[in-house]
Amino acid sequence: MTSALRDQHGRSIEYLRISVTDRCNFRCVYCMPAEGLPWLPKQEILSYEEIVAVVRQLAPLGLRRLRITGGEPTIRPDLPALIAQLRAVDGIEDIALSTNGVRLPELAPALRTAGLDRVNISVDSLRPERIAAIARRNLGFQPERALEAALAAGLEPVKLNMVVMRGVNDDEVVEVAELTRRLAVHVRFIELMPVGEMAHLTDAHIVPSAEVLARIATLGALAEDPGPARGNGPARYLRISGAPGTVGVITPMTHTYCGSCNRVRLTADGRLRTCLYGDHEVNLRDPLRRGDPLGPLFVQALAEKPLAHELLSLRVGGLRALSEVGG
Ligand code: SAM
Ligand code: SF4
Repeated sequence: MTSALRDQHGRSIEYLRISVTDRCNFRCVYCMPAEGLPWLPKQEILSYEEIVAVVRQLAPLGLRRLRITGGEPTIRPDLPALIAQLRAVDGIEDIALSTNGVRLPELAPALRTAGLDRVNISVDSLRPERIAAIARRNLGFQPERALEAALAAGLEPVKLNMVVMRGVNDDEVVEVAELTRRLAVHVRFIELMPVGEMAHLTDAHIVPSAEVLARIATLGALAEDPGPARGNGPARYLRISGAPGTVGVITPMTHTYCGSCNRVRLTADGRLRTCLYGDHEVNLRDPLRRGDPLGPLFVQALAEKPLAHELLSLRVGGLRALSEVGG
């Protein structure tokens, strides 16, 4: 593996999260205001051809893995066309998608045919009325249909993300963990982060991962597990004795992963962000539209990638919503 993409702290950067839209068909309480956000005008958003051009320029520097995210990526028209073009870029080994799952039953086969490798689905509850309350949209979402569609299409490993909120959905932790005993899915419980529009969600809603794991342990012995073969995100995995799937925890509020952070983000309007938090952004869109080479800008952005963010000490709102920066 080339070492061209190492930041000044020696972390190798081969993973890019690409936000293809800032818009969404949900309005999750922890992510965006009920009325939505001031959406980017269409001309400011990278076209599929422009996204592919960015990836083509970064692949020779060592970029290997992509995650397509948003906003909700599946509401952008003809997402399989983008996947197919990214798949054709030399050097790209793995393409994953983060989605709320609403459109997966309809899109999973076409996404797989286009070359998508795997999928992460956000499932904060298994109860329709609660899903509608958290998402503030009733789209008739049936999480199990989305999971089954992803498994049937071979978009594996299928990961399911649940943001755990005390008094909102934490009573379902055990039920959701139980899915891993029936299906080969990998459930990750995420600690609520105080970002974006959090008017009525506070520190009191954060459920520490240690508490989540203690509740799951009532289902049976939990053994440490290497987790799904593909993807090396910031999760710790465990397996309930005899289960085909695993459970994991993502703990942005009680631990930091900055030391091993290998990810950078491309926003829908073509800004490269080297840290989820803070204001480290480099505009790639304008140089791209002018025909300037992006490699030197990328190398410079990595040189400025911070060693660690301050979320643990901040614990306040005011940071950009994850839908704006691509989760
Ligand atoms: N719309 C897609 C989805 O929901 O999976 C992709 C974008 S979403 C911003 C990416 C991830 O960020 C989701 O798993 C979501 O649950 C998570 N997320 C958003 N806001 C969060 C918050 N305040 N705390 C923890 N996770 C959050
Ligand atoms: Fe949309 Fe995902 Fe944010 Fe929910 S978490 S509002 S589905 S972008």
